[in-house]
Amino acid sequence: METKILKPTEENIRLAAEIIRNGGLVAFPTETVYGLGANALDSAAAAKIYEVKGRPSDNPMIVHIARASDIGQLTPRLSPDIVTLIDTFWPGPLTMVVKRKALVPDVTTGGLDTVAVRMPDNIAALALINEAGCPIAAPSANLSGRPSPTKAQHVIDDLSGKIEAVLAGEDCRVGIESTVVDMTGEIPTILRPGILTAEDISAALGKKVEYDKSLFVHPSRFPKENGCREKICTESSAAKSKDSDDLNAGFDDDFKPKSPGMKYKHYAPKAEMVVVEGQRDNVKAEIERLKMLNERLGNKVGVILFEEKAFIEAAHDLFADLRQMDKEDVDLILAGALSDNDGVGFAVMNRMLKSAGYNIVKV
Ligand code: AMP
Ligand code: MG
Repeated sequence: METKILKPTEENIRLAAEIIRNGGLVAFPTETVYGLGANALDSAAAAKIYEVKGRPSDNPMIVHIARASDIGQLTPRLSPDIVTLIDTFWPGPLTMVVKRKALVPDVTTGGLDTVAVRMPDNIAALALINEAGCPIAAPSANLSGRPSPTKAQHVIDDLSGKIEAVLAGEDCRVGIESTVVDMTGEIPTILRPGILTAEDISAALGKKVEYDKSLFVHPSRFPKENGCREKICTESSAAKSKDSDDLNAGFDDDFKPKSPGMKYKHYAPKAEMVVVEGQRDNVKAEIERLKMLNERLGNKVGVILFEEKAFIEAAHDLFADLRQMDKEDVDLILAGALSDNDGVGFAVMNRMLKSAGYNIVKV
């Protein structure tokens, strides 16, 4: 199929909305990353998203709405906390997991009795949802496992020929996906960290907010080989090809994260990637050492080293940098870990470690 590349003019938004209403797929910009959208209430349309992305069908999608009050269509019950978070953070990069109404199909929720909902802060996205007249289910508009798209070109690179249209708007302001907070239990629990942190949410609610424990579990997809760091950089591609098809590698069979997406391979560049963690000067020195070593071995090496504490910039640039390095046919990406004492740094590190398949060198 020919994918229409549409600038987000009024006329094109009408066209894109018609595609959604007719059960087709349209990628569109949001402030976080580009989304791949379908009518969230149409099982057949939503099912196409999984097919096109190659996304596991038990990994539910976020449902996007254009008016905060539309959440009432999707959930039977709004708690005062949910209302407070809507008033404080919507439109914005906060997704809430709430009980679902029966009209939200199993395909959209991955069979769960909850639904994840968000109102994005992007004019084109809001206009599209409004014009479509239905909530839009939209995971990130990348092939499953690849870094999320933060520019229209990233979407075109991954999905051209597979979807009806791309609403090619602006680059994404945030650059990493929304914070996902589970509002169904006693204590609001963050399932996916983002630029809105536990502290931000806690301040709005005046109560404790937790990070889900599985965010602190590092599945060792690539177990570190003792005492031979050089090997990680020269032989780890063998380890990767062995494991990369096994989406659950490193997790126990009985691992049941609250957010199904947590157990899947994510954000991976084509290049081998290593995160170097430790005190800043040591990190710089180790990256330099590994770079020289690998270049001598004939590898093309890319380096990602953000300014210290520049967490927002790191969030904005990480996925775009990974995709750029793939375009340049880099063999090995060496990334400096951020000190994650800030909630935003934690969110970026969550992505960076997954991108690297938890391939970590400590210095
Ligand atoms: P993506 O659509 O790629 O931005 O990913 C959405 C994330 O939200 C995934 O990690 C999903 O597993 C998670 N998610 C979506 N719906 C739910 C839900 N009902 N309960 C828990 N996690 C959810
Ligand atoms: Mg995604």
